[in-house]
Amino acid sequence: MSRKTDQILVIDVEATCWLGKPPSGQESEIIEIGICLLDSASHQPVEKESILVKPERSTVSEFCTELTTLTQEQVDQGISLVQACQRLQEEYLSRQRVWASYGEYDKNQFQNQCQSFGIVYPFNSRHINVKTLFALVHSLPREIGMLNALEFLNLPLEGTHHRGVDDAENIGRILSQLLWHRSTSRGNS
Ligand code: AMP
Ligand code: MG
Repeated sequence: MSRKTDQILVIDVEATCWLGKPPSGQESEIIEIGICLLDSASHQPVEKESILVKPERSTVSEFCTELTTLTQEQVDQGISLVQACQRLQEEYLSRQRVWASYGEYDKNQFQNQCQSFGIVYPFNSRHINVKTLFALVHSLPREIGMLNALEFLNLPLEGTHHRGVDDAENIGRILSQLLWHRSTSRGNS
């Protein structure tokens, strides 16, 4: 399988969550896979999509809706995780392309849920942790959150924080800066 570097697949997932531990019988599950394709030639985010996933072992709490804006009604329209993983592989070539996310959360959530549901993990091992890379490139003593990274770069937050699709685009813009030292913010593009 070819190891493509034409585009970087930036991923940000949202999952069912609660203030504290999950209620008895429920577990945190992916409800949105935010995708942003960052183009290696133009250094720009070229495509983005929100794939909504219907949870099977949990429901969307009020707390979760407040955090993500996603409602139970919205995710009820979503597809299954296995279908979403198929789309990632077939349409986004997720097994061939290098992929990136901010921190380890998204990778761990995917790995754990794929294992728990008996689904083939849709990515390869070439994962870029943008949070770690950011701290190293900027010689920071510790890793910082996505909002602080945007502020550090003087980039505005696009869209809604904690919506996977918008987070993925913002992470893509941060990664573009890190890799190519070039702003993708509106004022400079
Ligand atoms: P994020 O990419 O930062 O939007 O977070 C991804 C997921 O982590 C969210 O969809 C929640 O499931 C969980 N999460 C993030 N922040 C919190 C929080 N303050 N409390 C509980 N869960 C959270
Ligand atoms: Mg997010």
